[in-house]
Amino acid sequence: MAKYIFVTGGVISSLGKGIASASIGRLLEARGYRVAMMKFDPYLNVDPGTMSPFQHGEVFVTDDGWESDLDLGHYERFTSTLTSRDHNWTAGKIYESVLNKERRGEYLGKTVQVIPHVTDEIKGCVRRIADSAHVVIVEVGGTVGDIESLPFLEAIRQFHLEAGDENAIFVHLTLVPFIASARELKTKPTQHSVRDLREIGINPHVLLCRADRPIPEEVRAKIALFTNLSMDRVFSAPDVPSIYAVPTNLHQQGVDDCILKLLRLPAGRARMDEWNQFVQGILEPKGEVRIGIVGKYVGFEDSYKSLSEALVHAGVANDVRVNLSWIESGNLGPGADPRLKEEAQEELAKQDGILVPGGFGERGVDGMVEAVRFARERRVPYFGICLGLQVACIEYARNVAGIAGAASGEFEPQAKNRVIIMLEECVGVNIGGSMRLGRYEAHLETGSLARRVYGKDVIAERHRHRYEVNNAFRKPLEDAGLRFSGTALDGALVELIELPSHPWFLACQYHPEFLSRPLQPHPIFKSFVAAAVEHRGHAADRAAAVAAGRA
Ligand code: GLN
Repeated sequence: MAKYIFVTGGVISSLGKGIASASIGRLLEARGYRVAMMKFDPYLNVDPGTMSPFQHGEVFVTDDGWESDLDLGHYERFTSTLTSRDHNWTAGKIYESVLNKERRGEYLGKTVQVIPHVTDEIKGCVRRIADSAHVVIVEVGGTVGDIESLPFLEAIRQFHLEAGDENAIFVHLTLVPFIASARELKTKPTQHSVRDLREIGINPHVLLCRADRPIPEEVRAKIALFTNLSMDRVFSAPDVPSIYAVPTNLHQQGVDDCILKLLRLPAGRARMDEWNQFVQGILEPKGEVRIGIVGKYVGFEDSYKSLSEALVHAGVANDVRVNLSWIESGNLGPGADPRLKEEAQEELAKQDGILVPGGFGERGVDGMVEAVRFARERRVPYFGICLGLQVACIEYARNVAGIAGAASGEFEPQAKNRVIIMLEECVGVNIGGSMRLGRYEAHLETGSLARRVYGKDVIAERHRHRYEVNNAFRKPLEDAGLRFSGTALDGALVELIELPSHPWFLACQYHPEFLSRPLQPHPIFKSFVAAAVEHRGHAADRAAAVAAGRA
């Protein structure tokens, strides 16, 4: 039978519960245990797919095409597990399933209630993912004390009672704020948060106390006393320079030993060497490189979580620190404020590589086209993802292939030269649902950059898009020098484009960032960063030559 760890959060949100849960997963895997990870989100949206990235951060896409919470991305990056639609349940999805059962008459005429029907549904979701895992880690989103979280907390309370104390434990993440005027770490919010948990019948087994600094012994002792826990259950979870250093930090304090003991699991040797080496690579890289990300949600970096993590992985693989510049695409477009435009252009010119990530909606698209043009003309490495492929096609069509007014049907449905159109129009059939979501295969052309980068000719990547390259424009674009180097569905869908006349210009219709892992960096990201490093070297050589010429 599997063992269960329930992770809750107190005091405030955004304490890093996802990272803490994922880190526990990492530590258990390091001891040789198979883990499964899931997240409950107390909001009523059925999934975050339709929520604004500003509201919710990134939408992480699973293999089976579920649009999920970004914490699932942390789970997949920190552990070797794969998540699916079964690993992320919102209150909306739970209620949807309960209501469907009610309509089908499955409750046999009973009054359908939060307890037991909703809580049973929640417990069922936890059990379903246990499968062959030794330990199931369940993160409960939201903050203890919220009305919305109550059914979830009640469900895990019951779960623990049914499973027994040695089979299910509660880990609670709280905040211990440092108050500058008093020069003191304050324990009161943690005391209150634990009291709130107790009030609903949950006695936490382990406390992870977040603070901007390590928590000294006497403060831990005070927390232990006031929360009725022994001190060896109260851990300090300080800010660390990289999220990937969290598992190491928790391990050094013995969090994993404590959890294994509570769950009556033997603690073998912790195999952390490779991971620690990776962290070392982040902290002490040999060089650095600048990557400009030109997009629409750049003010809110959580919107591009997997993307920035994939660049961290690729940086370590190239032994460089990847410094990201977030450039608001709207500022590069025609209608932009001249001062902001100049600033954005200057910023763009400083980059060793330019990346246009995925996005929806028209705002800022012309600025992205400008960024592509800059990268193409100045021979700066360019990497386009999803919308970044579509704008690259638009740019090439307009400025090289001479296709006047080339546009995407997403932004200009009436345009004559729509080089990007709805998927349905491409394949001529309804592909079910409005978006192409999840993992699909693509075939790479022999001799292409894509083929070299991957080192194989069939790949499978995760998608989330509604639009595609219009096949009617493939010939003119190809004649003008653009290469369609990867396709799917017997060539009906373009998956990758590249520019053989450019040092490194590649764009894909899928989202490779979802499959990048710390110890297995994604091949495209790795190659892109390598190209940026090379570009930087050339630029430095040119600058030196100019300086020498002047001297
Ligand atoms: N909006 C574009 C589409 O639907 C691109 C989507 C994306 O970048 N994820 O095809």
